[in-house]
Amino acid sequence: MTLWAVVLATAGVLLSGGAAQAQQSTRASTAVAADQPAPEHVVWYEVFVRSFQDSDADGIGDLRGLTGRLDYLSDLGIGGIWLMPIYPSPSYHGYDVTDLTAVNPDYGTLADLEDLLDAAHARGMRVILDFVPNHTSDRHPWFQAALAGEPLYRDFYVWSDDPPDWRGALGGPAWHSAGGSHYLGLFAPSMPDLNHRNERVVEEVLGAAAFWLGLGVDGFRLDAIQHLVESPDGLIANAPENYAWVERFQRFVHEVAPDAVVMGETQTDMPAIVRYHRDAGLHMSLDYPLWRYLKAAIQGRSATDLAFALEQETSLYPEGAARATFTGNHDVTRLASQLSIPRRDERRVRLAASLLLTLPGTPFIYYGEELGMPDGPGTLDVEKRTPMRWQPGRGVGFSTATPWTDPGPDLPGVSVSEQAAEQGSVLEHYRTLIGLRNEHPALHRGDTRVLASGASALLALERTAGTETLYVLANLGARDLETRALPAGAYTDLVSGAAFAGVVPGLSVLVLRPDQNHR
Ligand code: CA
Repeated sequence: MTLWAVVLATAGVLLSGGAAQAQQSTRASTAVAADQPAPEHVVWYEVFVRSFQDSDADGIGDLRGLTGRLDYLSDLGIGGIWLMPIYPSPSYHGYDVTDLTAVNPDYGTLADLEDLLDAAHARGMRVILDFVPNHTSDRHPWFQAALAGEPLYRDFYVWSDDPPDWRGALGGPAWHSAGGSHYLGLFAPSMPDLNHRNERVVEEVLGAAAFWLGLGVDGFRLDAIQHLVESPDGLIANAPENYAWVERFQRFVHEVAPDAVVMGETQTDMPAIVRYHRDAGLHMSLDYPLWRYLKAAIQGRSATDLAFALEQETSLYPEGAARATFTGNHDVTRLASQLSIPRRDERRVRLAASLLLTLPGTPFIYYGEELGMPDGPGTLDVEKRTPMRWQPGRGVGFSTATPWTDPGPDLPGVSVSEQAAEQGSVLEHYRTLIGLRNEHPALHRGDTRVLASGASALLALERTAGTETLYVLANLGARDLETRALPAGAYTDLVSGAAFAGVVPGLSVLVLRPDQNHR
């Protein structure tokens, strides 16, 4: 038996249909070395494969391209990668999947993925996949069979001849007509919701998860986690049955791969996020609440609400709950674009990076954020997902062919090659802060205490792990500020290496180490 067949047998899951014919691996899977830091203690990087690096001159980013760029990520200090969906799909974004156990031919082959996993693991990096259990593409063979009236597959989806008046996840209609009846599609007509009250469906989805774990994938980011199971009374988000589904999925994943990451796209309110951790045992959630406070603090130049949010999180979340923090992702306008009015505000881009990398949580950097890359010129989602800017000029070093989507106009200074050679660049700033975070337990896994800073623009935190105590002072305003937040003594700022003179410069974050512990 191949490894993944063993995995499936162990898990007690039988695959049917397309999944049973999934390509099989012919070699042993690799994993990160056991002495690597825990997944919640490293800095992660979110990659849209289609836009990261093209390796075969078709204008489309691919897995081999990404593998060729791993040294860049390794040098940056990245310890894990989240791949947006890599499955076959009719769309550019890939969240409408036609086969959950195959690689999109645009991106390469299963062997290319195995090469990527081997190369990442050899560099101490984990790789997790975006996993999309809520819906399939309307072109998925299951949905096509359902439309054709095959009873087995009809029940893979949710049907109603007299649909109730539900709104979808994005505010549009939840039901869509087909063949005299209506099917549920919370996101779009092209994305029919799977019927997770059907045990066959759940087993197919668990089987697909086991398939990827058997290849050596290090876990999953669960897409649309709050929408998986609806209540009969029309509760489409965070229904009681939904928590039970998540609990079951994670238990299954950990039976197959005890150390695998399960991170939820908890794009919802804090009480629900807390409940995924507490009731479903979810290991890691995307911290949308903190993202909102972080953004507001940077734009509003006030630390008051951010400080309150950090205190609240410390008391609300159960022990061991990991929170994936971020300043941007594929669903939100890039920070540099929000801060570009009237012109590019590089100081605040750096400030955001400093905050992300010194606050508690597990930072996830969206590709290009480390350059202060803005959105493309349009307003559609695709503008948040434009090609990575490796160098100036046509094709931006992403492809020698015409890129699949327009990278946008020239942006002097916004590329890896320019910033790698520039002292004080955003890229250099990211590298410095990631290095500091990786080096200091107080930063990557320390407890956090919010201190009274004496100024509304000043955030003062004490971060402690074991014998190490560091102080993070963030000045969100433009004017220099003095602080009375610190215990008496002399301090060194680990960011600049300079002695602390009692003043926090405007729009900057200091990481202070008490001198007496380090003679
Ligand atoms: Ca390509």
